[in-house]
Amino acid sequence: MVLAGAAEIARFPAAAGLPLKRIRGQITRLKQTASSAELRTVVCAEGYVAPPRLGEHTLGASFDFHSQEVTPTAAEHASNLQLLEEISSDLAARLHSSELDPVSLQGRVAFRCTSPDYLPIIGPLADPQAFAAAYAALSKNARQVPDTPCPWLDGLYVNSGHGSRGLISAPLAGELLAAWLDNEPLPLPREVAEACHPNRFAVRQLSRGQ
Ligand SMILES: Cc1cc2nc3c(=O)[nH]c(=O)nc-3n(C[C@H](O)[C@H](O)[C@H](O)COP(=O)(O)OP(=O)(O)OC[C@H]3O[C@@H](n4cnc5c(N)ncnc54)[C@H](O)[C@@H]3O)c2cc1C
Repeated sequence: MVLAGAAEIARFPAAAGLPLKRIRGQITRLKQTASSAELRTVVCAEGYVAPPRLGEHTLGASFDFHSQEVTPTAAEHASNLQLLEEISSDLAARLHSSELDPVSLQGRVAFRCTSPDYLPIIGPLADPQAFAAAYAALSKNARQVPDTPCPWLDGLYVNSGHGSRGLISAPLAGELLAAWLDNEPLPLPREVAEACHPNRFAVRQLSRGQ
């Protein structure tokens, strides 16, 4: 089984100790105009604006590290319009952004799920208590390389923490998981796979003597 429910995987006891954070993001929907419809590609800077689909451009996206509110706010529509101005004043003019009232704009809110080191969390899960007991020696000497076998939770894997880049990292994560599952050669350098390993947080905690 692969836990792939973003921050919600913390509801499962085996994943509850993973340090996942939710970061709210809001996109704004903008009606296409005759001249904005000429846009053929996504344009990115701090934010991004996409070519029209079904008569609308998607503009985004805000970052809010504190709010868990799911309703779009006018303030974030306004900050998305500011992003649009910074992306391209020409596009902003084509979309008549200065005449738009943020209160009447439509949009959508969702949550990015990220980790403290901003790398995704991909791989097999160990039993948290048994792991802490098996590698307790690390809390006394972090340089040790214990040869105790890891208490894996057989058949349980995680794929989460893709942050703001999941559209790019998730497909590669799928390949990495398939390799972990089938005991195949990893599709990434070992250091990259280890940097994304779910056990890294528990190892760091033990190594800090906690
Ligand atoms: C506003 C915004 C803009 C973004 N822009 C970009 C971008 O431009 N480029 C980019 O690469 N990434 C972007 N991202 C990030 C990208 O969306 C995520 O990295 C990606 O969606 C992570 O994929 P995921 O499958 O891990 O999690 P999610 O896409 O969050 O999927 C998790 C799924 O699990 C389901 N779920 C949760 N709990 C349960 C349960 N108990 N049982 C069953 N199902 C459950 C949820 O309903 C959801 O469908 C953006 C995110 C946001 C919020």
